[in-house]
Amino acid sequence: MINLTNFEKNSLLTIAKQLISYPTEIAYRKQMAPNDECAEFTKELLKEHGFTVKSFTVRNEDIGKDVHSVLAWKGELVPRIMFLGHLDVVPADPSAWKQDPYSPHVEGDRLYGRGAADMKGPVASMITAFLDLDPGDFGTVMLLFSGDEEEGGFYSIPPIIEFLKSRNLLPTYVINGEPSNHEIVTKRRGLAQFQVILPNKKQTSVGRVNKQVFRTAKSGDQSLHTARFTPGADVHALIAASKTLFGKKIIHVEGDFLKENRLPQEVIVHYIEETMDESSSLLNHEITYSVGLTIAFRALAGITGINFPTEPSIVGRSIAPNILEIDDEIIKIAFDIRTMTNDTKAIQKAIHEHFSQFITPTSSLSLEIRLLRNSEMMNVDPEHLLPKTLVKAASEEGITVPHVGEKIGGGSSDSRFFTNLGIPAAEIGPIHDGSHSPNEWVSISSLMKLTIVYRRTFELLTESLTQDPW
Ligand SMILES: [Zn+2]
Repeated sequence: MINLTNFEKNSLLTIAKQLISYPTEIAYRKQMAPNDECAEFTKELLKEHGFTVKSFTVRNEDIGKDVHSVLAWKGELVPRIMFLGHLDVVPADPSAWKQDPYSPHVEGDRLYGRGAADMKGPVASMITAFLDLDPGDFGTVMLLFSGDEEEGGFYSIPPIIEFLKSRNLLPTYVINGEPSNHEIVTKRRGLAQFQVILPNKKQTSVGRVNKQVFRTAKSGDQSLHTARFTPGADVHALIAASKTLFGKKIIHVEGDFLKENRLPQEVIVHYIEETMDESSSLLNHEITYSVGLTIAFRALAGITGINFPTEPSIVGRSIAPNILEIDDEIIKIAFDIRTMTNDTKAIQKAIHEHFSQFITPTSSLSLEIRLLRNSEMMNVDPEHLLPKTLVKAASEEGITVPHVGEKIGGGSSDSRFFTNLGIPAAEIGPIHDGSHSPNEWVSISSLMKLTIVYRRTFELLTESLTQDPW
């Protein structure tokens, strides 16, 4: 077992606190992206310690803001082992926090602050692990800290990959420190968001107006994030509504449709009750309803059963229609789909075939399916040398790895950009709680252990990859 020097312990905590003190909040729908202070601090620190540093500033024209990322490396030889993290954080609501989220503070083994776990703490571990390392004859250590992971990494990683390709500097392996409670993550489902567009054609029918309320019900935690939605165990308000009211003529639908990846909590459906009995027929009258919504509801009832091939996943796949937009002309339904496949064409075809079944020749509705956003899956064999080396380095440090394989209930991470180029990646991050929530904390002792695990993994990988085969 290697020990961190007191100097290293202090610098780990100092660096983590300094990183947390920059409120690097990102939320594109609120036009929010961090300024360059945090990236500048990181860049200067690495430069002072012998790294070659290149910072990247890429404009997100949609919100008129720049995204800042940092790439640094030390050494000239292969293998190149990249340690991957991100400097952006999801916004914090200070009123829900016990203390200011950007004034990091320590209580026992816990370091509190927005980003303490996700993922400035792990970034501080990676920096500390290699600050004074001389990779000498072994290989190259690379650090990449992106600036928009929480918004998909699209303005950080692809341009950096292009740069690395052009300089012939692509990494051999990638290790990501996303918080994982010491689990080693080698698989994550991909994300595909689609929009189905139908005309909002109207017709009339005789009956009475009725209304029913449906609520989303979660079996486990109460998170409304789609990555934590388990079809079969959980109830999606809009799918439940479509099943219950299957075949009814739908007039209008309301609900808290807020984000593509957030389940609606409540859905209210106005529909036509067609009663035939004599006593109520006096109450019947002619009512205008939406043919498009009626068809959409029939299709939604069976949407989770659509057929397309995927790789195995512990949690299966989830198909969640989270946004319903209705205006006088058109109806748009946005789906958030989490699966172990990168074949978005096959998913698109399956959605198209499914909806088409409900469009009769007489209704003559047009149907359009658009791909809104796509993040590929991460799918590395848990038996690969990289996760095996992480397990070895962790066990040397007294860490019992609870699980190697798929991240359960997790979204995507920046690792996928590399695995989809054929570069193996695996993730191990600290003990923590409350990432993306108030009062986020990370275990300081866990960060210290991981600092050693990261350094030791570099040593083990460079040794095993440069060994003479004899
Ligand atoms: Zn993260």
